[in-house]
Amino acid sequence: MSEHPGPEAGHGEVGAGRTVVGGSAGADDERRPAGPRDQGRRRVGLLGGTFDPIHLGHLVVGEYVRDRLGLDQLRLLVAGDPWMKDSESAAHHRVAMARAAVADHDAIVVDDRETHRDGPTYTADTLAMLHEEEPGCDFHFLLGADAAAHLPDWHRVDEALALATFVVVARPGSDRPTHDLMGGTTWVQAPLVDISSTQVRADITAGHSVRYRVPELVRAYLDDHHLYRPTP
Ligand code: ATP
Ligand code: MG
Repeated sequence: MSEHPGPEAGHGEVGAGRTVVGGSAGADDERRPAGPRDQGRRRVGLLGGTFDPIHLGHLVVGEYVRDRLGLDQLRLLVAGDPWMKDSESAAHHRVAMARAAVADHDAIVVDDRETHRDGPTYTADTLAMLHEEEPGCDFHFLLGADAAAHLPDWHRVDEALALATFVVVARPGSDRPTHDLMGGTTWVQAPLVDISSTQVRADITAGHSVRYRVPELVRAYLDDHHLYRPTP
């Protein structure tokens, strides 16, 4: 992670001009309400992750950003073969849980394209593909402060940054990154939700409850499929 002033307290304020979404923010904080150049263009958010499993943290920040940035749709982009971490549950389970989590939301959907691709998946490739398929869309790629700290390590990061507005959200335990690439991103001080998939997995393995940290449908799925339980 990175070494910066921690996430500012408070959230929910929208500033003038370049839109500041939540808390105090720097010059790189921007909101882009539909202006003349955006007219007729669909604003689509992408929240990439392994979702192993999806939890309330993903949902709270996703919905907050979707609403505050006035996005027409948010897509949960489920990673297939993440090049920087191993996922513990098969992609079809992670996709099914993500779908269950947002089944009741008209403006949030799951995109499982990366799970059908062999080998490592790079955001730059996915964004290029989306642009080709949907030239009428403006894409916003959401990521937590912990993930944003690693942006400089990303494969073809400049291409990725050119293809979407990168929106970085605060995350408990992660300072706001200060590397140079942050200057081209939008910072959103979303409500802080201290939940991680790692902790959820560990608690399930240890036999603890994860009720209310994951949606009930996800909890039922975890139970039905005995995910993250110790192998007997
Ligand atoms: P793991 O512990 O397995 O890494 P995770 O909880 O970090 O899981 P991911 O699927 O890795 O979940 O995260 C997908 C994206 O959502 C990342 O950009 C991550 O920073 C962001 N994110 C996940 N949980 C939160 C949270 N509680 N608050 C803010 N952002 C979050
Ligand atoms: Mg993570």
